[in-house]
Amino acid sequence: MSDTTRIAFIGLGNMGGPMAANLHKAGFAVTAFDLSADAVAKVQAQGVAVAASARAAVEGAAVVISMLPASRHVEALYLGEQGLLAKLAAGALVIDCSTIAPASAQKVAQAAAARGVAMIDAPVSGGTAGAAAGTLTFIVGGEAEALERARPALQAMGKNIFHMGAAGAGQVAKLCNNMALGVIMAVTGEAIALGVAHGLDAKTLSQMMAVSTSRSWATEVCNPWPGVLENAPASRGYSGGFGNDLMLKDLGLAVEAAMGIGATVPLGELARNLYAMNKRAGRGALDFSSVVRLFADG
Ligand code: NAD
Repeated sequence: MSDTTRIAFIGLGNMGGPMAANLHKAGFAVTAFDLSADAVAKVQAQGVAVAASARAAVEGAAVVISMLPASRHVEALYLGEQGLLAKLAAGALVIDCSTIAPASAQKVAQAAAARGVAMIDAPVSGGTAGAAAGTLTFIVGGEAEALERARPALQAMGKNIFHMGAAGAGQVAKLCNNMALGVIMAVTGEAIALGVAHGLDAKTLSQMMAVSTSRSWATEVCNPWPGVLENAPASRGYSGGFGNDLMLKDLGLAVEAAMGIGATVPLGELARNLYAMNKRAGRGALDFSSVVRLFADG
């Protein structure tokens, strides 16, 4: 089980598909699986070997990487009699890149440890563009030794790796980042909408903000106002990018993580409600920067 070049990759969606393809391009022997036939076909077209089930994919693999939507999918994949942990040999390594609850990551890591399987939580930042370009940031929780074994595979999919602490710590750090991002995007949209309501030009306002004290990724890279940045989701009807529903999920996880230890996240809670309102307005599947429509459209 020391051959870390044989990798089973489970979950080939917007993020997992390009990540699996990058591993394949880097020379890893990847066997991939997804419940969606379309997702499977996309990676197969890029030369990645595919399996008929997750259990078949891990056959002979020393490393399993998963990139699934949420906690319940990850727990269902690994735990229980039909779960992958029951099938993996001692000495195998699990790298879960999904964004899930820290408590859920710890639960799976403990179950893995009980079977002699190492696990790291390695949620990512960088979005679908980063996944395609192989420039993701990995935010890791777990044993340092397990991270070292994972490092070559992570380096084939990303360029920055941060070790945040023990199991679950990667998820906590990821939630901190996304909670800040959710709040910053909402207030950036609110500010630009205020300026526009006063007759200001959104582009000039954004250009000024981008070199002033409120500068941020939300202003400079993913500006929420249509037409300000040609390549931002806002300028293509909020399509692509990071979905409102995913931001809503992450803010819910951040609020839960705060409640679990009696911490307070007043702005995170407010932002969670804003993205929930944006979903109710029918924009759940659009890029999260569409939250600006709450302020811009009345
Ligand atoms: P996605 O919905 O595009 O892909 C998830 C894939 O998992 C789907 O193809 C689905 O069919 C598959 N799946 C679900 N259950 C499965 C199972 N039991 N076995 C096999 N396949 C299964 O989601 P995504 O955008 O790729 O995001 C994946 C994770 O990455 C999420 O946790 C998300 O929060 C996180 N993330 C996403 C982004 C982004 O920009 N999209 C950025 C950073 C982190």
